[in-house]
Amino acid sequence: MTDTVKHMKWWGWGNDGVGFHHEDKPGFAPFVAEKVGLDLHTAERAVEPSFDDLDVPASTAPEAFVSALAGIVGDDHVSVDDLVRVIHTYGKSLRDLVRIRGNQILRSPDVVVYPADEAEVQQVVDAAVAADAVIIPFGGGSNIAGSLEPMPAETRTVVSLDLGRMRAVVDIDTDSGLARIQAGAQGPDLEAQLNSTGWTIGHFPDSFTHSTVGGWVATRSTGMQSDKYGDIADIARGLRVVRPGDVLVLRPLPSTSSGPSVREMILGSEGRLGVITEVTVQVHRVPEKRNIFAYFFPTWEAGITAMQAISESDASPSITRVSDAHETGFTMATSKTRSGFSKFTAETALPRIMKAKGWDLDKICLSFIGYEGSTAHAKHQKKLVDAIVKKHGGMGVGEGPGLLYDQKKFDTPYLRDFLLDMGAAGDVSETAAPWSKLLQVHDAVYAAADKAYAEIGVTGWIMSHLSHSYHSGACLYFTFAFVFQDDPLSEYDTVKNAIQQAFVDNDATISHHHGVGREHAPWLEEDISSEGVKVLTALFESADPGAHFNPDKVV
Ligand code: FAD
Repeated sequence: MTDTVKHMKWWGWGNDGVGFHHEDKPGFAPFVAEKVGLDLHTAERAVEPSFDDLDVPASTAPEAFVSALAGIVGDDHVSVDDLVRVIHTYGKSLRDLVRIRGNQILRSPDVVVYPADEAEVQQVVDAAVAADAVIIPFGGGSNIAGSLEPMPAETRTVVSLDLGRMRAVVDIDTDSGLARIQAGAQGPDLEAQLNSTGWTIGHFPDSFTHSTVGGWVATRSTGMQSDKYGDIADIARGLRVVRPGDVLVLRPLPSTSSGPSVREMILGSEGRLGVITEVTVQVHRVPEKRNIFAYFFPTWEAGITAMQAISESDASPSITRVSDAHETGFTMATSKTRSGFSKFTAETALPRIMKAKGWDLDKICLSFIGYEGSTAHAKHQKKLVDAIVKKHGGMGVGEGPGLLYDQKKFDTPYLRDFLLDMGAAGDVSETAAPWSKLLQVHDAVYAAADKAYAEIGVTGWIMSHLSHSYHSGACLYFTFAFVFQDDPLSEYDTVKNAIQQAFVDNDATISHHHGVGREHAPWLEEDISSEGVKVLTALFESADPGAHFNPDKVV
């Protein structure tokens, strides 16, 4: 394997040696015991999966083809090694993790290739198309929509084209705030390069540490500060996409009316229209001030109404987020051990104030609002928001909890592996809907999950938060958990399918920012209509008549 590209663990999230620990969070074990019936003190933790236990399908890449690829990228940057091919088989969805831990690899890429630049990508693509091979672009491998896996029935050679060596910020047009970035740049790579000259992209998905700018575009990703900076669909202005024989070039423009947007066609294309090699993104000066304040609302309804009021107001925060009562309870339970004044405030003073206001502590909802910009701007925004929060019966509790939230946000993904080790599922489904539908969607999803849990015969857990506000609505993000019984994947399907179906049945989308892949494709027609699916199918078939680019994803 090329030694310049670092991959995540083959069996789970993130870096080797890093994991989730609950010992410093005293409320966590009792919470899990109460909500899903899992006793963390007595449950046996699975040992780390051993690569030797895997049956990896042998590579079927013809030697001459592998040699031809090596001739393009160099011997060190092409691999048919089993471990390398396994790393490139799946993303990091719960289904992916269960399958890989359970030795269920039906098809792996036959060869992995790491080009150094766009010219090499072009040569690899042309060689693969000439050999009638399949090309699956690989960014960080962090998707959770089943966007990467080769189809089990694929008989042609499958090439995983890893962009990991292409991670430079090529150039910044400082007059326009436009940065050209190679598609394989992962969040920390590109942010460090931008920060060194005073710029930021402002795109911080929870997977930031292990996902790439090309992957963000290919899946239509959204980051935490989207209220200020926009989704990647807004941030990505120019694109270079290698297609058979030539490069599709979209210059960075603030806006254009040149027909239906080809830029929008590439956004969310999940590798089906070619290999994105470069993205020109809108960047911003690193803000002088960046802070996140915490608020509480007496109820979920009050929290949602306040978020809508903020979105309609003159305030322009960078983050608007409110957890429902379940998620608020979870956040409290996963807090680290407190002491001194912070313990007194959280456990005595605050509950006392809330009770005095007549609040039911089981219904309170925690909210985080972020402010960025000059000190005066951030202060003014906060003043506007504080007034709205007050009007909706909420109260501010300062910056402390916001700081903690900001610090631990990239650690949360490790929790899923921990739960799997303990025989439990913990996963997410997210959607977006108009303001007028959000409460309905929320309640319908809860009802659907409860029904699914009853069907399986388990005590399951579900919680939610609203984030990413728009003028017309917002994203609702659900996290669910339950202890596996006899058949993990079919039990998982029962719950996940019920939630996805509740989305489309209640006028919400199948995904706000995780994409379609294989995971959400069954609901695409209900999302965009059968005519919409026909248009997409026609686009992919005509743009890629030989089905060389990541076939069978999206539609
Ligand atoms: P990959 O997973 O490698 O690929 C995803 C798809 O894009 C595949 O179809 C692939 O073929 C295609 N692709 C990748 N690179 C290219 C390229 N250069 N050219 C053409 N096609 C390409 N998503 C969010 O939006 N916001 C979040 O907050 C968020 N949090 C997450 C938290 C966790 C714990 C996990 C596991 C995932 C999360 N995700 C989130 C989902 C995931 O990180 C995103 O989908 C991300 O955009 C994928 O980027 P990647 O580089 O890892 O792409």
